[in-house]
Amino acid sequence: MNDDRSTRHSVRATARRTAALVNALTAEPDPDPGAIAGILLDHGELGPLELTAGDVAGLRTAALRLREVFTADGVDEAAGVLNRLLREGTGPLRLSSHDGRSPWHPHLDSDDEAPWGEWFLASSCMALTVLLWEGQRPPGGLCSSPGCGDVFLTVGSGPERRYCSRRCATRERVAAHRRARAGSRSP
Ligand SMILES: [Zn+2]
Repeated sequence: MNDDRSTRHSVRATARRTAALVNALTAEPDPDPGAIAGILLDHGELGPLELTAGDVAGLRTAALRLREVFTADGVDEAAGVLNRLLREGTGPLRLSSHDGRSPWHPHLDSDDEAPWGEWFLASSCMALTVLLWEGQRPPGGLCSSPGCGDVFLTVGSGPERRYCSRRCATRERVAAHRRARAGSRSP
């Protein structure tokens, strides 16, 4: 059996969902509930799924707080932000299998029926904490392309990543190239 039942709840999958939701929820003041539900479904949430405006507002509040983990300067600051979120926004560690519908996995929210915002903050804090623990570096970062503003997840052990996507990296490389050419032409 190789369905995504076990990977759906993995730390990395949860953190990927966190980054995607943080970007979608903080890009504009009034995110579209249908689009946010779509991201949740894309990242393994079981449908059908309908979010109210209140659900999305709660998710957005959590996203704005989680964004601080990604914009933190270095691992110490990221750990400090996570400690604050864990202290203020999450409950004690517990295990859930959602009545046998999923593998047992850890939860930091108060209940399986907790509001979306509480669930998002808690599950994200859990995943980002484990990633920071494993990697001993910030679990993610903020794209260096001016005007992008998206966050990304630190993956693997390669060189430090600066951009959220290949698209942003290419755009900045082209811009730097143009600047260099313009500079070499000036007297
Ligand atoms: Zn970017």
